Amino acid sequence: MQNNRYGGGCAKCSVWVFEGGGFLHKTDGGWVVKCATCRDLGALYESEEFDPADIGLHLPTVRSPLTARFVSLRVLGLTRECWKCHRDTTCLAGLYPERPARGFNSLHIGDEDTLALTQKLLQQGGRSDLAATIKSRYSSTMGSRYLSVGCVHCDALQGDFYLQDEVIERLHLHGLGGLENLLVVDCPVLDWYPVVHQNSGGIWIDS
Ligand SMILES: [Zn+2]
Ligand SMILES: [Zn+2]
Repeated sequence: MQNNRYGGGCAKCSVWVFEGGGFLHKTDGGWVVKCATCRDLGALYESEEFDPADIGLHLPTVRSPLTARFVSLRVLGLTRECWKCHRDTTCLAGLYPERPARGFNSLHIGDEDTLALTQKLLQQGGRSDLAATIKSRYSSTMGSRYLSVGCVHCDALQGDFYLQDEVIERLHLHGLGGLENLLVVDCPVLDWYPVVHQNSGGIWIDS
């Protein structure tokens, strides 16, 4: 991988990398930029001894001076009928960069890291009404408590699995335009890396 002389957005995280701070990476779709963090973590994933469950130990705790401090993210959602009270409710669907970098192709949804960050961003962006729908709830399917999305009216769990299915279906039919743009907000890059590098890797989007 060679050093990039110019500024550019990282293909893995969409964080802006200043001149000389990024790395050029060849993919099937051509050359893309990677930031130092995503390059290092990508190399770790490829090494055989690496256990993805240990990713937390390898996430940066200090921002590289050659990357931007914030990445602008869109909080995406969808409106649908609550199974319990039958009123329309806004469900949180995922996080996506406002300006995705060349090569960026995942929508991050549903898991606890993403929901915890989504909640923080909604609070910062003045949408405490939506932030309040994310809570630790008991799921009988999972047999434990975990962060989930509930109905804005009656708080009933909207069910991860069904919600994700619907998000995938809308993406399939309409692309990102099938989801609602609930908020655009600046997210500190150190909060974004754990979501980008979690095990699930998000949903693939054809851009
Ligand atoms: Zn990156
Ligand atoms: Zn409801």
